[in-house]
Amino acid sequence: MSIRVKLYMSYLAMVFVPLIIMFVFVVFVFYARGEEDVRQYFEQERREPYQQAIVYGELSYVLKNDAGQLENEKYLLDIQKRLGELWAGLLISKNGQIISIAPFLDQLEPTENWQKLLDLPPESVTFHSFRFETNVLHFVYPDGSEGKVVLFRRKDIVPIHWRPASNVFTLALIGLTSLLLTYFVSRSIIRPIKKLEAAALQIKDGDLSHKVVATTKGEIGQLSIAFEEMRVRLQHSIEQSLQYEENRKMLLSHISHDLKTPISAIKGYVEGIMDGIANTDEKRKRYMETIYRKAADMDQLIDELFLFSKLDLQTVAYDFKVIDIRRYLEHFLEEQRFDLDKSGVKLLYPKDDANSILIAADPDKLSRVLTNVLNNCVKYMGQQSEQANKEIKVSVKEQGQYALVEIEDTGPGIEEEDLPYIFDRFYRAEQSRNSETGGSGLGLAIVKQIIEGHGGVVWAENVKHGGARFCLKLPKSTIVKTVEEHEEHTNH
Ligand code: ADP
Repeated sequence: MSIRVKLYMSYLAMVFVPLIIMFVFVVFVFYARGEEDVRQYFEQERREPYQQAIVYGELSYVLKNDAGQLENEKYLLDIQKRLGELWAGLLISKNGQIISIAPFLDQLEPTENWQKLLDLPPESVTFHSFRFETNVLHFVYPDGSEGKVVLFRRKDIVPIHWRPASNVFTLALIGLTSLLLTYFVSRSIIRPIKKLEAAALQIKDGDLSHKVVATTKGEIGQLSIAFEEMRVRLQHSIEQSLQYEENRKMLLSHISHDLKTPISAIKGYVEGIMDGIANTDEKRKRYMETIYRKAADMDQLIDELFLFSKLDLQTVAYDFKVIDIRRYLEHFLEEQRFDLDKSGVKLLYPKDDANSILIAADPDKLSRVLTNVLNNCVKYMGQQSEQANKEIKVSVKEQGQYALVEIEDTGPGIEEEDLPYIFDRFYRAEQSRNSETGGSGLGLAIVKQIIEGHGGVVWAENVKHGGARFCLKLPKSTIVKTVEEHEEHTNH
């Protein structure tokens, strides 16, 4: 519930709750007093003025025209009884002497000094906590005696002390209702705000682990949800920057290690030459070859590092073109076939006349990806015995909005526990860092960067009958015309 609705509701409740409680209370009082039917009571109340008018009219007539009736015991009892039913009564005197006191009034206040009330009737008098109005009427008896009647009529329907009591009760009820409502409404607003405040203080102190749960709906619930989102993002970005920091440290230590190893070797071989350990031409030649190989390794590492850091910093510009990946692979693999043959690796790329698959790609970067993957295949198949069957199978197919290129080898495959990490920078499955097989550990990290730069995904899996499979998923181009079609068009 929104705060506005809550406030509106509480204002309405402040008005209606005391009224309802009052009503319930009044009904309760009526039942407690034995009024079976409240409606009947109010009906009676409504009819009372008419009945009063009839009785008072009759009384006025009797006083004026038939005062002798007031000495008739039977009539007196009757009219006093009828007045009693209307919460009224008469005090009648003859020549200053009281001749009748309304039994109803006498019962209410048996100790009353009626003579005093007759002599000096006040405007209003209280009998048994009820206020009565007085009316004094003078008349003459048939025998000429002076008559005086004091009519007492009930003023309020409730006892006199009820009025202040009910005022106090009403005020207390309104006060209590507004107090309770204010408490509950403010609690429902303040509590979640307090929670948010606590969470904000925790975040200020750097503790982002506590989840903020939205317990209410409305504005504060939405605020809690937004707050929680902010916390999650903040946590994520802090974790990310910590991860980056960790990566940077790792990168530095790996680079130092990978540069230090060949440099130490080069230094050793140069010292060997300088100290005359390489004392034959053949030895010197071997030393020089090793130095050259180590320097070439370093050169390649620095090249890869340079490319990787550019990719990582996203400072590499992609020159996207719409290409048919089938034809592109055909050309690329044809160029590689010679080198692969030389390494004793059979290349399989089934030619088919299936439709072209158009993708938007940077051909140079894509060739870098394929070279890295193929080099790895050759490198890791090279670890196997000479007789082992060395084959690389390349295939491409459409998969929804993507083109899926699969490169499969018959090498040793990848350990299951290494699979999730081989695309991480500097990750090498064999920790020995043997320079024969272990390269820079950047080859697949570069592959991942470039494929992701194309909006694609890359993953590796093991082939059932041995070997590794690299899957490159690249989004298909939405532009229908190929560059070739365009060229053909312009040639015409
Ligand atoms: P490296 O320079 O060590 O080859 P890469 O990033 O190219 O680094 O590869 C990461 C790791 O993935 C390698 O160390 C290797 O363990 C594993 N790997 C890559 N290609 C293959 C493959 N074709 N067969 C088996 N393992 C491979």
